[in-house]
Amino acid sequence: MAIATVNPATGEQVRSFDPLTEGEIEEKLAKAAAAFRAYRKTSYADRAALLHRAADILDDEAGELARLATLEMGKTLGSAVAEVRKSALGCRWFADHGERMLADQPWPVENGTAYTRYEPIGPVLAVMPWNFPYWQVFRFAAPALMAGDVGLLKHASNVPQVALAIEDVLRRAGFADGVFQTLLVPSSEIDGIIGDERVRAVTLTGSEPAGRAVGAAAGRHIKTSVLELGGSDAFIVMPSADLEDAVANAVESRLLNNGQSCINAKRFIVHADVFDEFLGRFADRMAALKLGDPMADGTDLGPLSSPDAVETLHQQVTDTIAAGAKLHTGGKPLDGPGNYYPATVLSDIPDGSPGHHEEFFGPVALVWRADSVDDAIRIANDSPFGLGGSAWTTDAEEQRRFVTEVETGMLYVNKHTASTPEVPFGGAKNSGYGRELADFGPRTFTNAKTVWIA
Ligand code: NAP
Repeated sequence: MAIATVNPATGEQVRSFDPLTEGEIEEKLAKAAAAFRAYRKTSYADRAALLHRAADILDDEAGELARLATLEMGKTLGSAVAEVRKSALGCRWFADHGERMLADQPWPVENGTAYTRYEPIGPVLAVMPWNFPYWQVFRFAAPALMAGDVGLLKHASNVPQVALAIEDVLRRAGFADGVFQTLLVPSSEIDGIIGDERVRAVTLTGSEPAGRAVGAAAGRHIKTSVLELGGSDAFIVMPSADLEDAVANAVESRLLNNGQSCINAKRFIVHADVFDEFLGRFADRMAALKLGDPMADGTDLGPLSSPDAVETLHQQVTDTIAAGAKLHTGGKPLDGPGNYYPATVLSDIPDGSPGHHEEFFGPVALVWRADSVDDAIRIANDSPFGLGGSAWTTDAEEQRRFVTEVETGMLYVNKHTASTPEVPFGGAKNSGYGRELADFGPRTFTNAKTVWIA
């Protein structure tokens, strides 16, 4: 895949970049190792001040930075601005709370003093996706920089200008040369970079195949890895739920980021007593959304990231309908330039069809009918993925059952899943392993060293 900016709204290639040469990669790895030797000695207060400065730059330049994201991956401009501001918030959160999260942790021993100290480990490689091109990077970088690690970013090949902008923001914030570097390299270079002895760990946010490749490389080289992979989150609606609220949240959660978020609700599991009413209202709302230019005011849904993304999604929809699913709205890409796919609703998803077990990475909702709580839990767990999910019910016993029996890394009740600094984020099953954010974020890429002074 070429490292290039291709506008998803028009198909026009705006700019392309030469990948780094072997010599340039070596130079950057050497610089990262040297930068770590000095950076690890800085104080938490110094790191926090730098992160605050980065947050101020992100806020001051949110409009301009957001336009780059919209140009490269097609999210609506309003949502891109919100993402840049959320990245600023993430920097401030870890600047303000990181020292507490990384404080020595005492252990109750009778003879002397024992504690865990969290020491930085060195350069960490971050392999990141295009869908939240700022937030995904900052949700790794802010806690890791607070912990005293240094970062190497291999961003998705379709967002090179955002990747360079992030490096630039952090440099202007005052982080020393080499503390955070963007590597413009194809994914074929990743294995070798993980194997380099100067790189101490890797975090990947992306698809299941990329996760398998990166996890295998990390395993071969005995390096810590975090994998944040795909999902097909369940959104369970029970009769006691406020239906209007559930429908509004269903639309929002399915279409966040033009339907291209790992934690979009993708499978809607609706109790038979409210099924027809939910489906009718949901399909009407989805059909009424405005699809169009992501830079324009009033657009609800922009283009998908690439022509390949449209092709893959449409094939999944076509195959699921061919297997027996019912189409309620959408279902066909728009003609003309740009990667436009309308909001689509399918129900009666047959077992074995793509809708049953694959991730649909675009604005397509898959709706199931459930006869009972047991049936809803069975359908929710009948997926290779286990990232997040939500249950909409005011019944305390139903809430308890969903919380304890749905096999996911995150389960929200009467609220759709979100990625925010205050709470941990991560998946189960094929959605990956490891946790980001909250106290897990700064500690993940540290050596948790046990000390016992007798
Ligand atoms: P992707 O194709 O897996 O790409 C993600 C990153 O991995 C890119 O930087 C990509 O580089 C690199 N990559 C791809 N194949 C690789 C390989 N074999 N070895 C090493 N690196 C490799 O995913 P995407 O299409 O950009 O993003 C969509 C996927 O990410 C969805 O499945 C989504 O659910 C998931 N996601 C998960 C989370 C989460 O937190 N759990 C968040 C967001 C997205 P190139 O661009 O150069 O190929």
